[in-house]
Amino acid sequence: MKEWCIKMKFNNKGFTLIELIIVITIIAIIQFDFTDIAKEKVCDYNRKQIQRYYEVMLIGKSLESTEELFNEFLELNDIKCPSGGVFTYSNGEVNCSVHNKETDNEEVPFL
Ligand SMILES: [Zn+2]
Repeated sequence: MKEWCIKMKFNNKGFTLIELIIVITIIAIIQFDFTDIAKEKVCDYNRKQIQRYYEVMLIGKSLESTEELFNEFLELNDIKCPSGGVFTYSNGEVNCSVHNKETDNEEVPFL
């Protein structure tokens, strides 16, 4: 019984150490993935907001979209990509230089 207890204790110690390393590694991976996914989601949401407001403004003021106008609009509204991507507007869609529609497979721009 005493021998068994010592063995268990020893095994537990070893297992805990390995487990700790695995847990730390998993947490690190999840954290990285999560922030990446979260940033993409925020970026996606921001782009949809910009697209909506920009189009409303264009229609409201009877303006044609230009690169200059869009950049001016971005500055005024201060909506940015959380990963520092640059937004551009083309064919009625706001695109990000970092996140580019990889998540939305149902919509294929430029086709
Ligand atoms: Zn982005």
